[in-house]
Amino acid sequence: MKKKKHNKKKNKKSIKLKIIFLAILAVILIIVAILTSPVNNEERYYTGNLHTHTYASDGKMSYEEIINESLNLGFDFIAITDHNTIGKEVKEKCPQEKRILCIMGEEISTTKGHMLAIGIKEAVPKGLSPEETISKIHSQNGLAIPAHPERKTIGLKIEEIKNLDIDAVECHVNDKGEYNFSCDLLNLPKVYNSDAHNKEQLKILANICIIKNLNLESLKEAIKENKCSQLRVKSQK
Ligand SMILES: [Zn+2]
Ligand SMILES: [Zn+2]
Repeated sequence: MKKKKHNKKKNKKSIKLKIIFLAILAVILIIVAILTSPVNNEERYYTGNLHTHTYASDGKMSYEEIINESLNLGFDFIAITDHNTIGKEVKEKCPQEKRILCIMGEEISTTKGHMLAIGIKEAVPKGLSPEETISKIHSQNGLAIPAHPERKTIGLKIEEIKNLDIDAVECHVNDKGEYNFSCDLLNLPKVYNSDAHNKEQLKILANICIIKNLNLESLKEAIKENKCSQLRVKSQK
């Protein structure tokens, strides 16, 4: 009888221990789940175009139209890159934009061809050499990306690009929807833009980038690490 009682006590103790063990295990599993959950590790695909024009240069879109059309297309980021200027409206609204990651940029006419500046605050003057232009972009922590290389008179030549301190190169489609040079042969990070002057052109080509927690800095890192691929939104006619 005494032994039975003793055994009962022992059983109770072992059940208690089991419950404690299971509780600890559950807590550990919850912690592991939280640490590895996507909420804390948001590396995922984000899409957007890094080369667009408004009325501030030769584009056929207002700032609002670019933002609205980008939202319609499901873009997460958009860079506005007018020729040799940052439009007044872009300067006022883009840094405050809440609907999409809006990036202030510029397409600068250098002595050898067009150069995109991504993530700058003040316009870089036109007419400088590619080297001077790149150094002015970098002094604002912007990215320097030759636009549409090899394009007649306005694109830098591949041979020139090879010697420059650029951050990526733009793989651009020509009017037939084909690349106008062998972009994939270049051993450089690449971006894929449509050089959109109107809403239709915004639909042609975009970037799809792997980024953790989208913001300007993480996007710039993704570009420099060549984590952007092409997204053909719609083929051009
Ligand atoms: Zn251009
Ligand atoms: Zn352009």
